[in-house]
Amino acid sequence: MTERMLQFVRLDQQTPEKRVSLERRADFGEIYQEFKPQAAAAQASRCSQCGVPFCQVHCPLANNIPDWLKLTAEGRLEEAYEVAAATNNFPEICGRICPQDRLCEGNCVIEKGFESVTIGAVERYITDTAFEMGWVKPIKPVRERAQTVGIIGAGPGGLAAAEELRRRGYQVVVYDRHDRVGGLLIYGIPNFKLDKAIVQRRHRLMEESGIVFRLNTEIGRDMSFADVRARHDAVLVATGVYKPREIGGPGVGLNGIVPALDFLTAANRVGLGDAVPAFESGALDARGKHVVVIGGGDTAMDCVRTAVRQGAASVKCLYRRDKANMPGSMREVGNAEEEGVEFVWLSAPEAFIGAAGPDGVDRVAAVRAVRMHLGLPDASGRQSVEPIEDGHFNVAADLVIKALGFDPEDIPAHFATHDLDVSRWGTVKIGSATFMTSLKGIFAAGDIVRGASLVVWAIRDGRDAAQQIHGYLQQITATAVAAE
Ligand code: FAD
Ligand code: SF4
Ligand code: SF4
Repeated sequence: MTERMLQFVRLDQQTPEKRVSLERRADFGEIYQEFKPQAAAAQASRCSQCGVPFCQVHCPLANNIPDWLKLTAEGRLEEAYEVAAATNNFPEICGRICPQDRLCEGNCVIEKGFESVTIGAVERYITDTAFEMGWVKPIKPVRERAQTVGIIGAGPGGLAAAEELRRRGYQVVVYDRHDRVGGLLIYGIPNFKLDKAIVQRRHRLMEESGIVFRLNTEIGRDMSFADVRARHDAVLVATGVYKPREIGGPGVGLNGIVPALDFLTAANRVGLGDAVPAFESGALDARGKHVVVIGGGDTAMDCVRTAVRQGAASVKCLYRRDKANMPGSMREVGNAEEEGVEFVWLSAPEAFIGAAGPDGVDRVAAVRAVRMHLGLPDASGRQSVEPIEDGHFNVAADLVIKALGFDPEDIPAHFATHDLDVSRWGTVKIGSATFMTSLKGIFAAGDIVRGASLVVWAIRDGRDAAQQIHGYLQQITATAVAAE
């Protein structure tokens, strides 16, 4: 083993080639190229096969990273794929969009002075190769079961659970209010991070596995929650979080101030070939505009980079803390900087100034902001922020995008199930080991339980919830048999 692995002493870290910023600003294509086979094997061989692999400890799926790196280094890619797929339903997606700098790669302890193994890029390479070679097959359960499970939400949490339940032979129906499968993978995250064809490829495979999708079906509007409950032996709620956090201040209701997800969904739909009237009218199109995005997370980074690609005249990101305290992935901040986004650190909006547009309608013309400084750390260890007296300034803007995060919608009211317990933040409460809500046979997973989080955590929750649903349904079967 040692002669093939431990190559970090000889080989430098190499990430897959990144398209130059001038080129990638002009389209919505993914920015990283695929590894060439030799590069993937060589990079995988840099792993030192740690006895206690911290990369694995810090991967929410506890992926068996050292094993699939070793298999890749040895050219045994089909086996590498099997190991990668054993713990992760969508390795090619995580390989592309996990914030690896905070998870597996950020905890790679290769040795001081050497850069981490490029785990995410190898994971993506293994799975993309597996698809190309036809190794990824629809699920064929060993035995079919009559019991059915209804899943509300076709995001990564719901989809991971659907696959795991189908694998065990259950009849699975996934309901989603959207016309496409994927949740935020399809309508939130932009194409330059995750090509939509990757998500659609998974959708097709899941249909071929016998999972039934009922799209354009909003539970609580097109179909009642009680009806879903009545049709299935168990139900999983995986509806994500979508209520945008609001900004206050005078002028906040002006035309030209839009929520981040409206902007991103429109851009994604246009990319998928849909007609989007709000884009065509210019309301959600950044072309030729001075764009100001407010926020510092992944959503804000996706907005600034989408605006650049739409041909904005300028793109600024206003964030009230500094770069070191940004919640978004540093890799994405770096990509945004390369693409020409200007970050206005330590600044917060106070008011929005309007002016009459050519049509006589008042629109936003500038953001009134105030400079902030970082104070003492609060109970969570995070430094507080305070406005600087007389630190006011204006930033010209004719499109302002609000990207301050998301909270859950009022699920008990929307589902007309007031006995569904939620936390004071509105997230659905579950038993930590059972994933069951306060309602018997109703489970929940993903962002609707955690609050806005990550794709990899939604997959993990979906898998764990599926395991618990299986246990619950087996128990019901056993009780029924005993009663006969
Ligand atoms: P979602 O993906 O939100 O899916 C929920 C689904 O439920 C949706 O399809 C919705 O239409 C459906 N639904 C909701 N209510 C109903 C109803 N009543 N009836 C029927 N269907 C319903 N994470 C990363 O790891 N990396 C990233 O780079 C990243 N970038 C992001 C960028 C943006 C712009 C955003 C907003 C999030 C990003 N995230 C990222 C976070 C990640 O997308 C989420 O954590 C993840 O998608 C949560 O999965 P989920 O299955 O819980 O919910
Ligand atoms: Fe790293 Fe995410 Fe893959 Fe885990 S799933 S190994 S955290 S890229
Ligand atoms: Fe390999 Fe780094 Fe994981 Fe160690 S921490 S097993 S060197 S990838």
